[in-house]
Amino acid sequence: MANIVVVGAQWGDEGKGKVVDVLTPFVDLIVRYQGGNNAGHTVVIGKEKFVLHSIPSGILRPGKRGVIACGVVVDPASLLEEMAQLERRGITLQGRLVISKNAHLILPYHRLLDEADEARLGTRRIGTTARGVGPAYTDKAARIGIRAGDLLDEALFREKLQANLQLKNAILQSVYNVPPVRLEEILPAYLRFGEALAPYLRDTTILLNEALDAGASILFEGAQGTMLDVDHGTYPYITASNTTAGGASTGTGVPPTKIHGVLGVAKAYTTRVGEGPFPTEVGGELGDLLRGRGNEYGATTGRPRRCGWLDVVVLRHAMRVNGCGTLALTKLDVLDALSTVKIAVGYRYGQTVLRDFPLEDRVLAGSEPVYEEWPGWQSSTAGLRHLEELPPKARDYVERLAALTEREVSLISTGAVREETIISEGSLLTRWFPGAQSLPVSPR
Ligand code: GDP
Repeated sequence: MANIVVVGAQWGDEGKGKVVDVLTPFVDLIVRYQGGNNAGHTVVIGKEKFVLHSIPSGILRPGKRGVIACGVVVDPASLLEEMAQLERRGITLQGRLVISKNAHLILPYHRLLDEADEARLGTRRIGTTARGVGPAYTDKAARIGIRAGDLLDEALFREKLQANLQLKNAILQSVYNVPPVRLEEILPAYLRFGEALAPYLRDTTILLNEALDAGASILFEGAQGTMLDVDHGTYPYITASNTTAGGASTGTGVPPTKIHGVLGVAKAYTTRVGEGPFPTEVGGELGDLLRGRGNEYGATTGRPRRCGWLDVVVLRHAMRVNGCGTLALTKLDVLDALSTVKIAVGYRYGQTVLRDFPLEDRVLAGSEPVYEEWPGWQSSTAGLRHLEELPPKARDYVERLAALTEREVSLISTGAVREETIISEGSLLTRWFPGAQSLPVSPR
């Protein structure tokens, strides 16, 4: 049984939710290890669309268990709402969803600080989702975070909250000129959240390691993407957690020695939400075409995503820092209409061509992508399920990507729906999950 990390190889929104959903039948547990409700993983099952924010996508498959591990930050109000929505749609969670007692909480002052700080930054803003995720991770690192398990001890929760409010209110008022938050506004609501979450709260490190010892297998569901990683991304335009594969270990307590491989998920082009560098960004009609065909609007915020060409400099970085054994390529169908498709293979900086993503903003700002141009296939790949059905030029594009990243593309997604998936026979993916060979799978 393989324990595999599914990780975004770009700036997030690569379609990880769909890929996780496709692979879920072959594992027992699906685990979120970082991020918060700033994530938005969309899964389409038949005619039904589910958008998950904190709950692992795998929960949509009957019989599978979903875990929100200690590396995630949890907004209890938002999580309970997401749970209620799933229950209303017939997805039972009792006994299937488990939340780490050590997951840090997002509190109302985190959201206020997130918003206020973005306003302070003005033109240098990060473009966060204003969900309070960054400030909650800040408190975690500052050793003043409050964890989900603390909700179960009223006296302890009150004490921690009181201490934090003194500090946060001083900052909110004097730095940001925002009205203070009162203890009585938070305490009763959060104690109710604690009661509602109590049946789901566990030591998930023990649960996961015991499950592995008993022969279970785990899919680690990454949120956001490599270029948003706090250490390996385009700092400071990043998210506050380790989105890369290493986060799967630190964010769960499952040791790296028990993880067998990493599947990188990349779109056939590139998108990014929020601010920050994006070397292959295209504007104008082409940008609009990609946005329109790819429906590139944030699942959490509805914000239009910036769109551009596939960037192999980014992908090589992602292959390296995640140790991706193989690639899943999504949204190939979005490129169907184009007469030419481009791939950035390097960045020209003065007289040199850089093959690696530069660390210095100055170098990045002074660089131009070096493109290879490939003829578009201009026929529909939408919904294709077999490699042989791909138009030859689309196949060339995929093969070129494989050559440039030195990774085999073992899954190609040709549509949002579960069955619109090509799995390459004999690929690493099918060695990890032998059952994946018999895809497409039947609907729920
Ligand atoms: P995630 O956060 O990485 O899971 O990505 P999102 O859910 O934010 O964005 C991916 C979007 O593309 C979702 O709306 C998916 O339903 C959709 N999607 C996934 N794969 C494909 C595909 O191959 N083709 C098309 N057209 N849409 C896809």
